[in-house]
Amino acid sequence: NHGTVLITGTSSGVGLYSVKALVSKGWHVVSASRDIEKTKLAMDALQINSDQVTHVQIDLGDLESVKACAREVQSLTSSLDALVCNAAVYLPRLKDPIISPQGYEISMATNHLGHFLLIQLLLSKIKDSTHHSRRVIILGTVTANSKELGGKIPIPAPADLGDLSGFEAGFQFPVTMANGKKFKPGKAYKDSKLCNMITVRELHRRLHQSSNIIFSSLYPGCVADTPLFRNTPKAFQAIFPWFQKSITGGYVSQELAGERVADVVMSPTFAQSGVHWSWGNRQRKDGKQFIQELSNQASDEVTAKKVWDLSMNLVNI
Ligand code: NDP
Repeated sequence: NHGTVLITGTSSGVGLYSVKALVSKGWHVVSASRDIEKTKLAMDALQINSDQVTHVQIDLGDLESVKACAREVQSLTSSLDALVCNAAVYLPRLKDPIISPQGYEISMATNHLGHFLLIQLLLSKIKDSTHHSRRVIILGTVTANSKELGGKIPIPAPADLGDLSGFEAGFQFPVTMANGKKFKPGKAYKDSKLCNMITVRELHRRLHQSSNIIFSSLYPGCVADTPLFRNTPKAFQAIFPWFQKSITGGYVSQELAGERVADVVMSPTFAQSGVHWSWGNRQRKDGKQFIQELSNQASDEVTAKKVWDLSMNLVNI
C-alpha cells in the first residue's frame, strides 16, 4: 500500500504534519517547499526520517518556478502516486495587493493558479503510476463554503467569483479579484480556496473515468495555531485558538490534521472521487469523516468549466 506522494508547503502546519504522518506509515514524500533549509530544520525537529523525504524547491506564486519544479519531479526515478496541494498564503491585512511575477494577485496566484499548473504538469506522471489507488488532493476550507456557517461570515465578504470577469480580463494588475471588483485581501484568500474546491470537482468530471485517479478536497478542521494566521492581528492570534477550542469546538491540532490528510491520501475509506471531506466531532481523534456538501457556486458545472478554461489561459497552457 506504500507509495510516493508529493506535498506542497511542508515547512510548517498541516503540510509538515502530513509529511510526519505519511512517513511514519511508510510512504516516501517529495517535499515541495519555498525554502528547503527551513523545511529540513522543521522536519528534523519532528524527527521525521530524512531517508523517506526528497526535497524539491518551489515558489507557487511564480509560474516559472512551478514549471521548473514539475520538470525536476518528472525526472525523479520514483513513480508519483499521489499529490497533495497544501501550501497557501493568507494575507488579510494587506492594504495594497502583492502582485506575482506574472502580474497576478498573490493569494490567487499561489493558492490556486500555482497548484492548478502543478497538477496539469504532473498528471501524466501520476497517470503512469501503477499504484492501485492514485490520488490528487487539495486542501479546501470552511470559510469558502457558504453551505457551512463559517462560509457565511461577511468579514470582509464571503467567497464569490461573481461572473469571473476579472479572470476573463486577464487578471493583470490593477485587476486583482476574480470578479473584477475592488481588492479585498481576506476575500482573495477565500476566492482562491473556492477555486481549489472547484478545481477538484472539475478534475473529477473531466478525468476520473478515463484515468481512475481519485480527486478530492478536505477540510481537516480549524488548525488555529499554524503560521497561516501569522498576518492576522496579535490579539486575534491569541484569542482564535481558545475561541475555536472552547466556543465553536472546531479546533484541531496540527498532528490530527496531518493524520487526516494522510488518511485521505492512503486509506481505502477515502477512495472516493469528486467529494469534499470533513469531520464531525472535530476535536476528537475518533471524529467520523463525512462528505460535506459544497456551495452552489462550488458545485455549479458551468462555473467550473469557466474557472478551468480561464485558469488554463492564465497559466498559459
Ligand atoms: P501554514 O502557514 O502553516 O503553511 C503554509 C505552507 O505553505 C508553508 O509551508 C508555507 O511555506 C507554504 N507556502 C506559502 N507560500 C508559498 C509559496 N509561494 N510557495 C511554496 N510554498 C508556500 O498554514 P496551514 O498549515 O494552516 O495551511 C495549510 C493548508 O491548510 C492551506 O491550504 C490552508 O488553506 C488549509 N487550511 C488551513 C486551516 C487552518 O485552520 N489552519 C483550515 C482549513 C484549511 P513558507 O514557510 O515558505 O511560508
